[in-house]
Amino acid sequence: MKKIETDVIVVAAGLSGLAASIAAAESGAEVVAFEKANTTGGAANMAMGPLGIGSSIQKNQMVPLTPGEAFRKHMFYTHYTVDARLVRDYYFKSGSTIDWLMDMGVEFFGASRAFGAPEATRAYSDGEFTWHIVKPEGGGAPGPRVAATMIKRMSEKASELDVEIMLETPVKRIIMEDGKAVGVIAKDKNGNEIEARAKAVIIATGGFGDNPEMIKEETVYEFGKTIFNFAIPGMKGEGIKMAWEAGAGRTETKMELMYQLPDNMNHFILDGAFRQPCLWVNKNGHRFMPEDQIANTTHTGNAITAQPGMVAYTIFDSKLLRKYKKKGPDIISHVHPHDLYDHFDAQWEKDLADGYEPIAQADTIEELAEKAGIDVAGLLEQVQEYNDMCAEGYDEIFEKERQYMQPIEKGPFYCCRQNVGAYGSYGGILINHKTEVMTQDSKVIPGLYAVGTDACNIYGDSYTFTLSGNTMGFCLNSGRIAGENAAAAVQGF
Ligand SMILES: Cc1cc2nc3c(=O)[nH]c(=O)nc-3n(C[C@H](O)[C@H](O)[C@H](O)COP(=O)(O)OP(=O)(O)OC[C@H]3O[C@@H](n4cnc5c(N)ncnc54)[C@H](O)[C@@H]3O)c2cc1C
Repeated sequence: MKKIETDVIVVAAGLSGLAASIAAAESGAEVVAFEKANTTGGAANMAMGPLGIGSSIQKNQMVPLTPGEAFRKHMFYTHYTVDARLVRDYYFKSGSTIDWLMDMGVEFFGASRAFGAPEATRAYSDGEFTWHIVKPEGGGAPGPRVAATMIKRMSEKASELDVEIMLETPVKRIIMEDGKAVGVIAKDKNGNEIEARAKAVIIATGGFGDNPEMIKEETVYEFGKTIFNFAIPGMKGEGIKMAWEAGAGRTETKMELMYQLPDNMNHFILDGAFRQPCLWVNKNGHRFMPEDQIANTTHTGNAITAQPGMVAYTIFDSKLLRKYKKKGPDIISHVHPHDLYDHFDAQWEKDLADGYEPIAQADTIEELAEKAGIDVAGLLEQVQEYNDMCAEGYDEIFEKERQYMQPIEKGPFYCCRQNVGAYGSYGGILINHKTEVMTQDSKVIPGLYAVGTDACNIYGDSYTFTLSGNTMGFCLNSGRIAGENAAAAVQGF
């Protein structure tokens, strides 16, 4: 068996693993990172950008939010159920982390927010300007996958610092001796085992979004039935299981919720076109939330979870569609193309012809309900009630903003089923604010750290989408914290 010795081992070179590797190497440690895939970056290659608070970019944009305010907001949002010291250390480091990335050559479009709330609910539900969207190399607009350029810069930096990244070499288990983590067993692409020894091991394997069994065991969802999350290949929860085997405490695990169409990347125009405050109903035909809040995709994912069969249906009529085509959407998405409705007819007709199952079109509401699988009487009654309230200009049930009270009356009618979706999982390994792994009774396991989504236990019952870029923000900053602490521990500080 091949043997390696180093100061710090990082299990995975995704976003948090790269941050940990760079931070440890910058602090003077020798670092080896084992990565299962044939490339670095994991899910972050799909993403747009991280949270930062107090970055030089925000100062230039005159964004007034301070790390202290974000900390208070976060703790209030989570009802004080999460580790305040960890949240605090994360937010107070996050501004400098954006500048740290810029020093590596990462460029950002600016600090944005995922959505703005309607006026009446702004005080408690508005998005903050924390989301630093990466500028892709070679030009291009903000959109999915731009953060791949950030991963490229981070990988270059790691290599400049002599971090050895061993691709296609998954870690299989952690070596524990006398209650301490002292190394790992990995397997290279030819199936040869490697025994690597180090003074510190940092776990960063990105959660279990690609593990249907674990989703079923650990959450309320079933992959492909009640949740259609991004299943980024390789996210099997291996780091979480290894940590548990090594004695780590367990925390609640959650999905980073949103809503999306099945196979949404291949139906992206429709995915965006139906994210409007039109009429949203459940399987019984009943409305279930104020549709002007659907831009908070996490909260909408929560609301859909609470509906019969964990599904919802978005409906607009031909008059509303004409308006969207002419004037643009009521709610603008930062993720979908801005000229969505120019491409709507082509994608709609293609998907209808291909029998794409979540969508339906009909000339009457009855027929639409039948085709979509919604209770016919329930939907007829709901549409009547909704149209009456639109005529009066007041939503007596949900207080939806008046400007969005647009009736559903002129066929053809369009319907799209919305499923619960997720970016991945979060939580699993119990850590403290130094990212040291702890046993269930809060004893530190010497030499063992965990970062990124594997150890992201700071959101309570739902993801903090109002402080957007939050998972990448946590992954980067927990990675940096672990890298610095592990290097300091190795050097005996
Ligand atoms: C489509 C999409 C868009 C997103 N957009 C955003 C966004 O704009 N902002 C935001 O904040 N978040 C976003 N996210 C979420 C964000 O990308 C993830 O939360 C983040 O990348 C997780 O970082 P991580 O280090 O925990 O895991 P990852 O970056 O996914 O890395 C995990 C790594 O572990 C490796 N691995 C797994 N098992 C092993 C093993 N046994 N041994 C060695 N290596 C292993 C994997 O191959 C992978 O490289 C998005 C996610 C998706 C899917």
